[in-house]
Amino acid sequence: MVGDLIPRGKSCGDCGLCCKLMGVTALEKPAGKWCRHFSRAGGCAVYETRPGDCRVFNCLWLLTEALDERWKPTTAGFVLHSEKGGARLIVESDPARPHDWRREPYQSTLRRWAAAPEMEVLVFAGRRGVRLGAVDADVRRTVAGAG
Ligand code: SF4
Ligand code: SF4
Repeated sequence: MVGDLIPRGKSCGDCGLCCKLMGVTALEKPAGKWCRHFSRAGGCAVYETRPGDCRVFNCLWLLTEALDERWKPTTAGFVLHSEKGGARLIVESDPARPHDWRREPYQSTLRRWAAAPEMEVLVFAGRRGVRLGAVDADVRRTVAGAG
């Protein structure tokens, strides 16, 4: 997944959490379930022929130099990605660790981002989620974690 946009020093390494949390339509892989092609020992077994969804996906930790090792998905317990040209930030929590985003430095940082003008931060664990705000609002999606 490493391309020109990836800052020097960042790489997926032993992560692979998007191979669990994101849905991959071409594989009929649901969000939140490990891809059948992934193994901890070997990573993606079909890397050279992986579907387009996998080729284009880079999480925001990988793309953002300012997000340090604490924000690496396997450490944080969630995968960050964005929609609407960056105006909507999605926190895709590992269903096995649905509350890890509430730890610091994550929660206060996510709430600060959510308070920025024209910015929306949604935290999901599967289909259920919250829109962060002065009062968090419950949200639900019909297709969980489609990526
Ligand atoms: S979640 Fe991010 S760092 Fe982890 S494998 Fe996917 S793109 Fe790489
Ligand atoms: S095909 Fe490879 S890159 Fe895509 S989800 Fe499966 S293991 Fe990950």
